[in-house]
Amino acid sequence: MASSLRTKFRIATTVLGARGFWDALAGRVLWQPVLNPLPSEERATGEEGRRSRGDGSQRLRGALHVHTCTYSDGAGTIEEVMDAAKAAGVDFVLLTDHNTMRPKTDGLEERYAGQTPFLIVGDEITVKGGAFLLALDMPADFEFAPGQDPQVAIDAILAAGGLPLVSLPDDMKHPWDAWDATGCAGLEALNLSTVAREHINLLSLAWLLPLWKLKGELAVLRAICTRPDASLASWDRLLAQGKKQIGLGALDAHALMKIGKKKHPIPSYENSFRAVTTHVLTLSPPFPLSPDNGKREGEQIRAVHEAIRAGHCYFAYDCLGEIGLDFSASPPPLSHPKGLLLGERGKGGERAILGDDAPLGSTLTATGPKTALLRLYRAGEGIVAAGKGSLSYVADKPGAYRIEAYLVGAQRGPLFVGARPWAFTNPIYVIPLS
Ligand SMILES: [Zn+2]
Repeated sequence: MASSLRTKFRIATTVLGARGFWDALAGRVLWQPVLNPLPSEERATGEEGRRSRGDGSQRLRGALHVHTCTYSDGAGTIEEVMDAAKAAGVDFVLLTDHNTMRPKTDGLEERYAGQTPFLIVGDEITVKGGAFLLALDMPADFEFAPGQDPQVAIDAILAAGGLPLVSLPDDMKHPWDAWDATGCAGLEALNLSTVAREHINLLSLAWLLPLWKLKGELAVLRAICTRPDASLASWDRLLAQGKKQIGLGALDAHALMKIGKKKHPIPSYENSFRAVTTHVLTLSPPFPLSPDNGKREGEQIRAVHEAIRAGHCYFAYDCLGEIGLDFSASPPPLSHPKGLLLGERGKGGERAILGDDAPLGSTLTATGPKTALLRLYRAGEGIVAAGKGSLSYVADKPGAYRIEAYLVGAQRGPLFVGARPWAFTNPIYVIPLS
């Protein structure tokens, strides 16, 4: 009862509060018209352009945290979800129906193996108080009674060899408050449903409804692309404690929205998949794909799980521009021998990529589209910002360094006009040499 009252109060304060209104006024009504789309030459050139990364790795775009009507409370069947994913051009879908691994035992991963998009089955577990945990890379026979203590759920996922991540960490309806629980591997640092709940309210509808009528649903999703301040703050707080934490961009896609007592089929799966994806950098390329290549069955899924576990990923509002973002670290020239062995790929002093360790003194380099403003954060503290899609910084202190990229409408001297938050990398963990 207390929790339900708290939820109602939280929703009421958001609806009546000024955030949506002022954001709308200051952020998007003014800036939206001046936002330039990415120049065509900077767009990815088809599937191969998106995947080739020059260093043998591949970048796959995944729609994470999706529900179906077959296994839980989504609006669409698995076929409808996969058709929407194909139309949106994503490489894989991570299904997370509530408290079930049945899609896996029913053979759905095998059905889509070797195809684009392919399917990965995960689980979303309800814990005591109504919050949620994502359970990834789980065995098919995993069973867990919902509604238990968060720590019990995390321990059960870990004992099964899976990856527990906080789902909807700062959602107004389902916030996570067990931050002192141990063993969680990370969190959804961006969740489209949370962003939508924050920004679609009675005040903002005054301009979102006309926008929807005039330009369609995807334009509304573009309009609410904002920095997920609360979730990023939770992530930074954990990083500042010296924890390695994976950040993901997720959807909680149901293709259903409850307005009053009626449920409406918005936003569609396809538009959700176009709006936010997690870009996963796989070091053992699972492509090219071939439907009849039986040997590769399961290989793509393994590659994605390995990459997520290593934090080799970033997440982005793809509806603002689908293009690559690089973040890497080169060790200092006279690095301590130990420094050359750090990180997943640190053999022989190779550059580290996002998610890896790098020795103190490494040069951090970020590269994005020319229209990007890049900001470097160390555990939540803004360190440096650079325009024109290029940033370089010598890491002089240990810590978790991550990049936020903003697409800029125009640059006038030191002013960036119409900057929209676009992409967020996982950190590179700069560690002392001793
Ligand atoms: Zn969900």
